[in-house]
Amino acid sequence: MSNAKDKRIKRLKKKRIWPSILGLFIITFIFCIMIVALLAVAGVDVTQRKLVQSNSRAKTISAVFEKYDGEQKQKVEDSVLTYLELAPEIEAVWVADANGNKVWASSNMAPDSQKASEFMWSDEEVMHLIVEEDLGEILVFEEDNIEINENIFSKMDVFTIIKSGIFFSNEKESALIHIRVWFLQEVKDLEVYVLQDICIYAYDFLMLIMSIVMFGIMIAAFILYYLISFISVIVSMRKTTKIIYTDLITGGNNWLHFVKRGTGLLKRKSASNAYAVIHIKMRKYRSFCTCFGVKEGEELIENLYHVLKKNIKHNEAMAHKENAEFGLLLTYTDERQLCARIEAVERAMDAVLPKMKLYFAVGIYKVQQKERDIEQLYNNALLACDMLGEEAENQIAFFDVEMNKQRLWERKVEDDMDAALANREFQVYLQPKISTAEENLAGAEALVRWIHPQDGFIPPNKFIPIFERNGFILKLDDYMLEEIARQQAEWIRQGRRVVPISVNISRAHFAKEDLAEHICSIVDKYRVPHEVIELELTESAFFDDKKVLLQTVKKLRDAGFIVSMDDFGAGYSSLNSLKELQLDVLKLDADFFRGVDVQERGLLIVSEVIDLAKKLNMKIVAEGIENREQVDFLTEQECDLIQGYFFAKPMPVREFEEKYKEV
Ligand code: C2E
Ligand code: CA
Ligand code: CA
Repeated sequence: MSNAKDKRIKRLKKKRIWPSILGLFIITFIFCIMIVALLAVAGVDVTQRKLVQSNSRAKTISAVFEKYDGEQKQKVEDSVLTYLELAPEIEAVWVADANGNKVWASSNMAPDSQKASEFMWSDEEVMHLIVEEDLGEILVFEEDNIEINENIFSKMDVFTIIKSGIFFSNEKESALIHIRVWFLQEVKDLEVYVLQDICIYAYDFLMLIMSIVMFGIMIAAFILYYLISFISVIVSMRKTTKIIYTDLITGGNNWLHFVKRGTGLLKRKSASNAYAVIHIKMRKYRSFCTCFGVKEGEELIENLYHVLKKNIKHNEAMAHKENAEFGLLLTYTDERQLCARIEAVERAMDAVLPKMKLYFAVGIYKVQQKERDIEQLYNNALLACDMLGEEAENQIAFFDVEMNKQRLWERKVEDDMDAALANREFQVYLQPKISTAEENLAGAEALVRWIHPQDGFIPPNKFIPIFERNGFILKLDDYMLEEIARQQAEWIRQGRRVVPISVNISRAHFAKEDLAEHICSIVDKYRVPHEVIELELTESAFFDDKKVLLQTVKKLRDAGFIVSMDDFGAGYSSLNSLKELQLDVLKLDADFFRGVDVQERGLLIVSEVIDLAKKLNMKIVAEGIENREQVDFLTEQECDLIQGYFFAKPMPVREFEEKYKEV
């Protein structure tokens, strides 16, 4: 798989998960920070308010000592004691003169800055607050700043407070925190110390707790939202993955799935496990759709897919590729076993449509050790399958290195062919046909040669089959026909005796209903009598649309062209076709005269065929004749013409012109 493709798929699948998780973390983190900040701010605020309150109480008491002299002394002391009874948070009052000597005290408690549980606080002075019990230092006053010790908050566990019922209680014992502080006020020449127990209760934080709860609910909603979106991302991710890997026609695995799974299987493959990548396609699927409709075609594909699926083992992979083509990755032991398995699968697939015979073409690539690029391997299987052509039968082809070379060659031919035609790189060679009666020139066949600027001389079997597959043969045959028509016109103008020259008309032309008109228009450009042009049709053309073929042949013969059947006996010889179709010439394929063991039988058939052709009023041309015995035999059998290396090989037009100028 290409890197870019790989990345695109990964991106599609991974989308949006991380932002959701990150969002969740960020929100929780912000929530915690805000709670800590709120607690800090509220803690400072509550403590400060309490301290200010206590300080003003201390001021009130101190003010009483303004009138503290001999006369009022007792009265002042009494009223202070009464005040102390009313204000339980005041534990003691201690008064000293300017020298620090005790003047009066409410009890025997006296300020002592060394004592850990008591501290001093006055308006002017900056003092240390040392905390009782194990809290450590809660507040540190420095000028106007108050810093807070976080330990204080760890003591304030909201749930324990609510559970223990002390939340709404203002009993001294239920206070969360006690801070005992001596407040100092200077009155006239006296120093008044007031010891207060500052209590901080849970309900002092009521507003804070309420807002934390509200805030908590909000955050919980947020977290819930993120959780839901996180889950929905996972769900949609799974959905996306499913869509990515599902084939729309069959509902099964698609190509991407095949590549992923196949690559995985090949990675895990052990040395003892042999795999083969297989391309299997139903032949003539397009024709099926034309006859029965695309929907039915797709239904058929779906059914074929399910048949294949049933035949796949757990450590194998398969997918629908396109049209009626499927990719398989199968394990196998040897070629025979693999072919047998494929044939069994083909039979099962054929059974999908009981009233119709389905044919399949199969290309196989045997995976070598360490090969993993399944797309590349599949391409090899595809190449093997392409080599099979379009025959209507079940066939299996294995990939070999030659095929790859052939494919490269094909690519080159296809790249160069248009320029070659424009640059007249295709040259006409002529091979004479010699009459058996007089052993003189009675005709010739035009055969093409490609004189490539870089590759030099290229024989037709290296490019004609390619042109036949890609349709370029139509242009080439037209070109050859035109060249021959032009050449014949020139020779006629020169006053030479001309013999019929045949051109090959490839099977592909017969798809055109106006082929006869088309041929006439080319030849008529040069005003050449049609009798000097012979048209060689290959026998395989008879397997296509017979109606068009019969019509075309009739039109051509009516127009005066000589029409011959080429390569008779090479493929599926059918004497029947001879009866159906009236032709002028029958060309016996060179195969009749090859091979030692078949010679006798072959020659027997030749004499029979010659006999039949004579009865049908046809001329006979024997091709590929290489020796005297063959010539003698054919002469004896009254074969009309002989074309073969025995007399001459195909040669350039100028050489032909020179060699037969006396005729
Ligand atoms: P074909 O039409 O059957 O042409 C006869 C082939 O047999 C020619 O091969 C010719 O050179 C060869 N041949 C003739 N006598 C002998 C002999 O005694 N021994 C041997 N071994 N071979 C002999 P060539 O020229 O290589 O052409 C091969 C095929 O390519 C042709 O078979 C024809 O099917 C195709 N072809 C050639 N030119 C054209 C063309 O212009 N158009 C089309 N459509 N096909 C062409
Ligand atoms: Ca021919
Ligand atoms: Ca031939």
